[in-house]
Amino acid sequence: STIPKIVILGAGYGGILTAQRLQKELNYNEADVTLVNRHDYHYFTTHLHMPAAGTDSIDHTRVAISKLIDEFKIDLVKSNVQEIRLADKKVVLQDGTLSYDYLIIALGGEPESFGIPGLTEYAMTIRSINSVRLIRQHIEYQFALYKLDETRTDRLNFVVGGAGFSGIEFVAELADRIPQLCKEYDVDPNLVNVYNVEAAPTALPGFDPELVDYAMEVLRKKGVQFKIGVAIKECSQDGVVLATGEEIKSATVVWTGGIRGNRLIEAAGFETARGRVKVDEYLRAPGHDNIYIIGDNSLVINPEGRPYPPTAQIAMQQGVTCAQNVVASIRSKEMKKFVFSHKGTVASLGKGEAIASAFGKTYKGWVAAQLKKMVDMRYLFIIGGIPLVLRKGRFF
Ligand code: FAD
Repeated sequence: STIPKIVILGAGYGGILTAQRLQKELNYNEADVTLVNRHDYHYFTTHLHMPAAGTDSIDHTRVAISKLIDEFKIDLVKSNVQEIRLADKKVVLQDGTLSYDYLIIALGGEPESFGIPGLTEYAMTIRSINSVRLIRQHIEYQFALYKLDETRTDRLNFVVGGAGFSGIEFVAELADRIPQLCKEYDVDPNLVNVYNVEAAPTALPGFDPELVDYAMEVLRKKGVQFKIGVAIKECSQDGVVLATGEEIKSATVVWTGGIRGNRLIEAAGFETARGRVKVDEYLRAPGHDNIYIIGDNSLVINPEGRPYPPTAQIAMQQGVTCAQNVVASIRSKEMKKFVFSHKGTVASLGKGEAIASAFGKTYKGWVAAQLKKMVDMRYLFIIGGIPLVLRKGRFF
């Protein structure tokens, strides 16, 4: 047929918003849309730190994709993308191939280990439902093991590498979870150590320094021990060695210290910087008018000449613009330039605590925690309306 084929790779923040927008804008039989994702559910990456620490359930962190899209309008393919073949305009899946006229790459990022020895092998990462199930189980298992051999207090040491957004949000949840675990496993809380190690000179780079101080104070009170301005030099099954020479013995290292673009993109032959593609003003890959790259795999430069940090917020906005541009392109209409509208940033610091900057102001404590809930609810509302808010929202 001559109906253009649109293939979307990845059903995260960028991919879902693209699919929903396409389904809304396209007329009957104007295009074939296929959405490929390795799971049949969409997960809220921005919420993964909670099930990772065990402070919320997996069920609150994901939703079936079939509940978010109209399967009469969009073909959902549950499969692993293995290769993008630009020359043939084909995508190789684990169990078949798809050809496309328009391709939207929204596969999300991957952890960046910066070549630190042992990190890839011995550290866990917060990146998917499966990866956080492992972290949660692993932490609990250390408590159980410790009870069988109380000389092994190193089992009660927990190391979080990276004090950026996700590192801070995770360490906060972990600090909230530790007292519950101590109670459940009859462990003296004084024996537990939670370390947060960051190579940069400050935690939460990009945040207002006053908010950073506040966040660190809140977390210190919850028992987090910070090592800021100290790089992890090596990771092994025994723990980490820091640049200072200090060794922290631990069976639990969670790495949040960096993300890079998906390796499939480099492998396809796109020009990348740390795995990301600097897209044009319409979100297309340079030299490929029919390929859009959005979310964590794209690089968009802000008016000050620096790349925007990869966030769910920008991925969602890119999803909408890229869908509009694909439709415009099919109709030979004018495309829209992507302009990021920054709505503010909120970082949660565990139960009832958060920091936020929005509407030109800063917020902390309870007010910021309410903002965080609003941001989460707003997202649920955008992708699934009131029913999804009621099913997945956290009201307390
Ligand atoms: P993703 O949302 O990661 O989606 C990618 C999708 O592609 C996934 O569904 C994945 O399963 C699928 N996929 C990947 N590879 C394949 C393959 N080979 N085959 C098939 N499918 C595949 N951002 C904010 O704006 N605010 C926050 O508060 C915030 N908090 C965060 C907290 C944590 C703990 C973390 C880890 C991140 C946070 N972020 C936050 C960042 C945000 O989650 C990401 O920027 C966002 O998820 C990027 O969206 P995306 O669409 O590019 O990719």
